[in-house]
Amino acid sequence: MASAETNPLHLHGVLPRFDLIEPSDVEPGIRELLAELVELLSQLEANLEPSWTGLIEPLEAMSERLGYAWGLVGHLMGVKNSDALRAAHASVQTEVVTFGLRLAQSRPIFEGLGALRAGPEFDSLDAPQRRIVQTMLRAARHAGVGLDEVARTRFNEIQAELAELGTNFSNHVLDATQAFAMRITDHAEMAGTPDSLKQLAAQNAREGGDEGATAEQGPWRITLDAPSLMPFLEHGECRQRREELYRAYVTRASSGKLDNTPIIERILELRHEMAALLDFESFAELSIDSKMAPDIGAVDGLLEELRGASIDVARRDLEALRDHAGETRGAARVETLELWDVAFFAERLREARFDYSEEALRPYFPLPRVLEGLFALARRLFGVSIVSADGETSVWHPDVRFFRLFGEGGEDGEPIAAFFLDPYSRSGDKRGGAWMDECLGRSGERLRTPVAYLVCNQMPPVGGKPSQMSFDEVVTLFHEFGHGLQHMLTRVEYGLASGIRNIEWDAVELPSQFMENWCYHRETLIGLSQHVDTGDPLPDELFDKIEAARTYRAGSQMLRQLYFASMDLALHREDLRHSGQDVFDVQRRIAERTTVLPPLDGDRFLCSFGHIFSGGYAAGYYSYKWAEVLSADAFSAFEEAGLDDSSAVAETGRRFRDTVLSLGGGTPPMEVFEAFRGRPPSAEALLRHSGLTRATT
Ligand SMILES: [Zn+2]
Repeated sequence: MASAETNPLHLHGVLPRFDLIEPSDVEPGIRELLAELVELLSQLEANLEPSWTGLIEPLEAMSERLGYAWGLVGHLMGVKNSDALRAAHASVQTEVVTFGLRLAQSRPIFEGLGALRAGPEFDSLDAPQRRIVQTMLRAARHAGVGLDEVARTRFNEIQAELAELGTNFSNHVLDATQAFAMRITDHAEMAGTPDSLKQLAAQNAREGGDEGATAEQGPWRITLDAPSLMPFLEHGECRQRREELYRAYVTRASSGKLDNTPIIERILELRHEMAALLDFESFAELSIDSKMAPDIGAVDGLLEELRGASIDVARRDLEALRDHAGETRGAARVETLELWDVAFFAERLREARFDYSEEALRPYFPLPRVLEGLFALARRLFGVSIVSADGETSVWHPDVRFFRLFGEGGEDGEPIAAFFLDPYSRSGDKRGGAWMDECLGRSGERLRTPVAYLVCNQMPPVGGKPSQMSFDEVVTLFHEFGHGLQHMLTRVEYGLASGIRNIEWDAVELPSQFMENWCYHRETLIGLSQHVDTGDPLPDELFDKIEAARTYRAGSQMLRQLYFASMDLALHREDLRHSGQDVFDVQRRIAERTTVLPPLDGDRFLCSFGHIFSGGYAAGYYSYKWAEVLSADAFSAFEEAGLDDSSAVAETGRRFRDTVLSLGGGTPPMEVFEAFRGRPPSAEALLRHSGLTRATT
């Protein structure tokens, strides 16, 4: 029970009290906790016993407590951001980083780990335990334990500055996104846009001060949040407005007070210096050292294999768009296809070829029905039941849902896991994008049930109807749910390797991208559709079109990801300081090989590339493709077993659960994959699903 004296960040191990946590709890809560942990750490170092119970278990317990409190603060920064919270976060962030480094760089603990590794107990540990010890040793080396005092001091300064730079980067993107709104009063400038966008844009306008705004009469406010941006770029016939919006999007956070350019340069410089301190040639080398990929060469090899399979296809995609744009009649016709025309004509060509639009699908996917279908799939594949438990615990926003998950024994047993779902876009206090995060992890002590956060940014309910999801939003929900499953269905009993912990970055997208495949399975997708007005399921013809459209522009999409991945790798393996080049020169050089329509001269996409500058994907963006190879290949096991054979699907699903979803970070990912698939991964399934395999006869 939380009493008036208990700081809610100190509860640890129980569901968070979102009803009690205030930004004012952060500073004292984190400070007190850190003081206590520093004391515990000193005691541990002073009486070090190099054994599992004497060393690893106490470390796990400490990491749990800090992870709980600081994880909560991080979570709220993402979903309930405010000036007060930012200030509170900033006030203690350096201390948290300092403690993390103190722990990671503890010489006695490093030596204790070394002694445990070399001692007689090591061989009697089970495989996940041994892997934990080895990962901790590597992490300690990467954290600079081996450095002399001068170098270590510098290393620590770099870490602290990097943490602050990452937060500033992300705040700038959020602020720059919020600072822009395109106010439209002229009907003609909204021509072509779907009703759902008009409703959202009128809602935004009302919130922005146009009190009488209506979907039909305006005024409308188009923002850079995805549910507003994308439909306008795809459907807005007014080319000038598309250009305005596109330029705003690709120059976000690139000028004035919110300019991220100096932050990017500084981040890269510091990362390079840090890698050099650890004797790596580049930050990219350092990053790959702890990945599933054996070395940079293996990554280059995969990126090049995929580029080779997609570049000509992407060129043909572009020609097809040019032809279509040139043939289009009326006001929408353009002579020279520009970047702000691509999404628009890609949608027109999609409509012409497949005769449906993304927007036309929305009414078939109301969120409640989609959830029912997703949960039914989880039951078919993995034998789990998911039950709504709204109101059983506090949440951070009234739209947030809470669910419990039960195992094969069904709903009469004890729940084995739970999750929160925060589905809708909220510009103002919620970060864009979608993600899964841990609330509680399975860990030592009482082997408590894991709890996940699933956060999406889909279209909110408008006009008194449930949220109507685009197909992409459905796919995103499946994706995050896949991450959630790996967190929730873990059987690993050690907190340092349960769920998604201790899994290599480039393997962690396997279950998430695996789940996406089910959105292209007829029975599954039709099963989760129900027209919001008529109640009809998605017609078969529409499913056929979605399936056919899956490979539509697949070469272009593949190439776009390869562009990002190659740019990320290049930025992190070169030292730009003495090259006379800046980051935008690198971007242009990579674009020459990996784009078919070059970016604008003034393109500043890097200034909002949060994955690599404020997320964990630095020199690791390639991981999406690496894991996609794994996930497509895993799904092909179901294809081979027979997707319409329910007992084969259940059997393969249970095997997936018992390997990929259960073994967490306790087993090397290649072993996990081979335990499920019976052989090493192959890119064949990914290329086939993307329609990028040369036709064979
Ligand atoms: Zn993911």
